[in-house]
Amino acid sequence: THPYLLSPLGNGFAALPPAFYTRLQPTPLPDPYLVGFSDEAAATIGLARPAPEDRGFLDIFAGNQLAPGSQPLSAVYSGHQFGVWAGQLGDGRAITLGDLPAASGQGRIELQLKGAGKTPYSRMGDGRAVLRSSIREFLCSEAMAALGIPTTRALTVIGSDQRVQRETAEIAAVVTRMAPSFIRFGSFEHWYYNQRFDDLKVLGDAVLEQFYPELLREENPYQALLKEVTRRTATLMAQWQAVGFMHGVMNTDNMSILGLTLDYGPFGFMEAFDARHICNHTDSQGRYSYQMQPRIGQWNCFALGQAMLPLIGSVEATEAALADYEAVFQAQHDALLHAKLGLRTQRADDSQLIEAMFALLQAGHVDFTLFFRRLGDLQIGNKANDEPLRDLFIDRPAFDAWATQYRARLRAEDSDDAGRRLAMHAVNPKYVLRNYLAQVAIDKAQQKDFTEVARLQTILRHPFDEQPEFDRYADLPPDWASHLEVSCSS
Ligand code: AMP
Ligand code: MG
Ligand code: MG
Repeated sequence: THPYLLSPLGNGFAALPPAFYTRLQPTPLPDPYLVGFSDEAAATIGLARPAPEDRGFLDIFAGNQLAPGSQPLSAVYSGHQFGVWAGQLGDGRAITLGDLPAASGQGRIELQLKGAGKTPYSRMGDGRAVLRSSIREFLCSEAMAALGIPTTRALTVIGSDQRVQRETAEIAAVVTRMAPSFIRFGSFEHWYYNQRFDDLKVLGDAVLEQFYPELLREENPYQALLKEVTRRTATLMAQWQAVGFMHGVMNTDNMSILGLTLDYGPFGFMEAFDARHICNHTDSQGRYSYQMQPRIGQWNCFALGQAMLPLIGSVEATEAALADYEAVFQAQHDALLHAKLGLRTQRADDSQLIEAMFALLQAGHVDFTLFFRRLGDLQIGNKANDEPLRDLFIDRPAFDAWATQYRARLRAEDSDDAGRRLAMHAVNPKYVLRNYLAQVAIDKAQQKDFTEVARLQTILRHPFDEQPEFDRYADLPPDWASHLEVSCSS
């Protein structure tokens, strides 16, 4: 009866002790309809696109019916929110249905409904998600994957005629997200702060066995785990910075133990460059501003280290595992920026060129994505060709001065225009999920027109390709978009 599910669901997470989760049923969502579906995400679990109006598919991913084998559960975790210990949190509106074998043949992938109703961890929340934030999570998860950035995936969004109350009454929806695991830094903190060191060990052992089996051979596998998670997190931060992605709520409960981008809420992509930009309207202090992200990533690794201390055994060994963060971040960030600038070699004074570039972007609030994309079209011997790039700057002489420096640097490594252009366009996306693009798609979806969601998906699936028919999706945001605000309300 469910031709798109190749095998019954497994329930790997349920093998953990009962204190790690609560078994429960999703709350049915009336009158479900399909808003979006990702063929790429589906392919990772060997699932085919359902026929339109396939009621069985809608019912499973709206939480109205259980797939064969499914034993749904919500997980407990804790965390630091905005730098403050928040105590117990948990899946307040997420319900794991189970897992399926990855089509790659390596491991399994969990399917989780977000917005499927109240759980024991809902606290004051209603357990629901709104269509607006579900579409944002869906589109951005898939856009990040296409950019080559580690992330949870999103399979589908199902809408409903049910309304939920936020600032206004909004459409309820469920997004199905997928990852090998949704275990967070906060999952470790949960057992540490409850002084349940036996459970802490169970968690550490399970994570090692399932996701980092090669580390079991190390002298201190827990230390090796912290070191590897630290390395992945530092790498992820470099990738976020390089593409201008801002997460918005980097609480420790939103940090993946696999180094994935996790929990898309008030995220944003940098447009008019401002290193201090805060994408989350609720974050008045700017703790999670663009320029803070690398440091917060490190802070979060320290929080994980604190929680893993009883497993690792000593402060010295824990500190040693965390010690690489800055070096890894710097090396990755440098490498990514060199690639963004089309530089094949690294030279001692490159940091000066790069700092001058950021100062220029900052002074002119230059669009981050357009700048790097157009920079790829620069020709060493043809300044006239700079116009579209130069037009992004108010202070043209300042740009010209920097471009002279950049050209000299390119000449110094015998850079060739055509080869560099190809290489740069393969790392500097033409298309990112700008807030206003998402907003247009959301406005239409709220009128039950899902064509724009599908179009954005199509475009963002190939962010580095020219796709000339979609040129206008690479444009600067329109004036009305400057008033768009994104908050934690979702
Ligand atoms: P977030 O800021 O999205 O990471 O969410 C923090 C915590 O609040 C998590 O435990 C979420 O599950 C929970 N939460 C967020 N929104 C809701 C909601 N509408 N209903 C229940 N729990 C929620
Ligand atoms: Mg969260
Ligand atoms: Mg969230």
